[in-house]
Amino acid sequence: MTKVELSEEEEPPSTTRFISEEEILREYIQDRLDRDKTNLSPRSIEFIQRYFPEATEKDWTSWRWQLKNSAKTIGELSRFLNLSDNEIRPALEINNTLPIRITPYYLSLLDRDNAEQPLRKSMVPVIDEFVAGTGEASDPLSEEHDSPVPNIVHRYPDRVLFLVTGFCSSYCRYCTRSHMVAKDKCHVGIKAWEPALQYIRQHPEIRDVLVSGGDPLTMPDPHIEYLLSRLRAIEHVEIIRIGTKVPAVLPQRITRTLVNILRKFHPLFISIHFTHPDELTPEVKEACERLANAGIPLGSQTVLLRGINDDVAVMKKLMQGLLKFRVRPYYLYQCDPILGSAHFRTPVEKGLDIIRGLRGHTTGYAVPQYVVDAPGGGGKIPLLPDYTEGRDGDFLLLKNYQGKIFRYPDFTE
Ligand code: SF4
Repeated sequence: MTKVELSEEEEPPSTTRFISEEEILREYIQDRLDRDKTNLSPRSIEFIQRYFPEATEKDWTSWRWQLKNSAKTIGELSRFLNLSDNEIRPALEINNTLPIRITPYYLSLLDRDNAEQPLRKSMVPVIDEFVAGTGEASDPLSEEHDSPVPNIVHRYPDRVLFLVTGFCSSYCRYCTRSHMVAKDKCHVGIKAWEPALQYIRQHPEIRDVLVSGGDPLTMPDPHIEYLLSRLRAIEHVEIIRIGTKVPAVLPQRITRTLVNILRKFHPLFISIHFTHPDELTPEVKEACERLANAGIPLGSQTVLLRGINDDVAVMKKLMQGLLKFRVRPYYLYQCDPILGSAHFRTPVEKGLDIIRGLRGHTTGYAVPQYVVDAPGGGGKIPLLPDYTEGRDGDFLLLKNYQGKIFRYPDFTE
């Protein structure tokens, strides 16, 4: 994959500027006013006082400050967490296969002493990562095999995945794209996008582009605007989707300026990666509301993870909480077999148990689609618990969510 280092300061061509200077200034002032009104949560205040005593409230609410002050090494992590025997400690620091980065905001959600805390387990490297299990691979979905030009994965007939950056504001330990996400800044860059844009232009069957990475919303505003405007200029691209974890790990990034850029490119959808109900903080609520208020349909994506969210009650709390944040649960993924992921993966039956525990027991909107992304590039395969119990003559026997059997007149032709 061609990657071009690009500094965050690099600007796209001037033709891509769509916001007037006046508008930018107005949004900037409004953002500042909003921030001045912000009352930080007691959790944030305590965290700032303990670890960043020099930081102001404005620093804390700046996404650039958050990125700059993220923990990027085991040594830095050990400032915030009492690392356990199973977690990688500074003395054991070895060449990680997966990069480390956690924003101060997300660090403030982690338990300093409890290594079993779900959010901590999803972000802090452990020794188990270095154990390769059966069937694991660095690119289990064979995305590179389905890549006709750099940064494009064209697997399904009418849509493509466009990997626009290898950078994330926080790196999940179970990341499917661990083979491409980088240890530090590695924006792919607008020049390197051109072959991908050209490919989309030349394929009229592509009506849907999923912009992902890495995390697209970590890019500077002008880059995002440039990219979306180029995609929107392609007549056959009907919808654009963005996949991101930013609202959950860096909610400060969802500024009014960003939202005003995004709202210009409807129909635009955003899928947000959530892991656990502990992520549903007031800051995240505000970020989701800003996006929803801009008319952007929000969906969620969650990876099923052993010891983190593999529990009906936890998953129900997450899905119901997302609806309150105006995010529609979309996909529950079986964890992909990336190298060193065995400690995260559950049996598929566990995923089915969770769907069984949600369907009928809570709002239908709160039930995501459970899928296995088939290793080798087979695409997403939906899985459902079996609710049929055979036939009785012309009747199909169906089992409801309470386990009661009902007869449906299902005449064969
Ligand atoms: S946010 Fe997505 S791309 Fe980034 S590390 Fe997590 S799973 Fe991987």
